[in-house]
Amino acid sequence: MEVALQLGKLGISALRGGIWKPRTRPGSFQGIGEVGLPWLKAAGRAAKLPVACEVAQPAHVDACLAHGIDVLWIGARTTVNPFSVQALADRLRGVDLPVMVKNPVNPDLELWLGAIERLRRAGVTKIVAIHRGFSTARETIYRNEPIWRIPLELRRRMPEIPLICDPSHMGGSKELLKPISQEALDLLYDGLIIETHPHPNQAQSDRDQQITPSQLRNLLACLKPKKELAAVQDYLRHMAELRKEVDGLDHQLLDSLSRRMEIVRQMSHYKEKYGTSSFQPHRWSEIVKDRTRYGVAHNLEQDFVLDVFELIHEEAIRQQEQETDVIPLKTADRKRGRRAG
Ligand code: PEP
Ligand code: MN
Repeated sequence: MEVALQLGKLGISALRGGIWKPRTRPGSFQGIGEVGLPWLKAAGRAAKLPVACEVAQPAHVDACLAHGIDVLWIGARTTVNPFSVQALADRLRGVDLPVMVKNPVNPDLELWLGAIERLRRAGVTKIVAIHRGFSTARETIYRNEPIWRIPLELRRRMPEIPLICDPSHMGGSKELLKPISQEALDLLYDGLIIETHPHPNQAQSDRDQQITPSQLRNLLACLKPKKELAAVQDYLRHMAELRKEVDGLDHQLLDSLSRRMEIVRQMSHYKEKYGTSSFQPHRWSEIVKDRTRYGVAHNLEQDFVLDVFELIHEEAIRQQEQETDVIPLKTADRKRGRRAG
């Protein structure tokens, strides 16, 4: 109630309260359970705001419906499981309550899209996507790494789905709330979902990322949604310039490859005339040595360079064998020779 009454004055659009909390380890606080639903509803009434609750099982949906919860959300640990999402979708058939779908824990866009599609097929029409970041093996400053390209690709494929950022679970700390929120606004996200607690130190879950309602007011005041268009135009301009450069480089790569193949085909006539075979192990070993050394000196990964040249050389030999009656080498032999080289 304390937090709801203060939030009611901030001009926010909904109150979110988790009643069932999916916790990593047993023994952690797992939410107050169904008894809390009337409290959530009462807090919403006091704040004059719609209320949202996380659902992970069909029984949760039933309880939320029974208590008049206005919006449901599917948590990251549920989105990840198609059986669970389908069970929720089946229970929502004919209900058409707004549902927010958090990204799955793992950086898998298809899984996120799939969850949205399951809800759509069940007739849910008001769907919102929540970007809360992804678990990765990389060490980063985030609790859950944003990997912005994934939600941006979701928006490209489903532009009609509003996209909300959850900087609390993404950053996992108070300090990261502002930069992440601003980044989301600059990318034209449709909203933010920020965890708030009257006494963060006493929070039963995620206490490092909670802020008080007055800290939330300050945070909202220093975000700059007005600059969003300028920021996006800046982004688009820079991206357009850089992409143009990449397009040019790709054409150069293809021109070089095409010219390289032309020369290679010329070579096959000499190989044919002098009876040598298409694949020359020592030449291949020379190429590998030179190209990887050159590539590594130019900031490329050795394995990447090797992969690229295996493909190029494979194609070169194929073209030579097609061009003339040069002595061919079976692919298997070629590979063996290559490894030996
Ligand atoms: C939450 O929203 O409070 C929560 C547990 O987050 P997530 O589903 O993103 O892990
Ligand atoms: Mn939380």
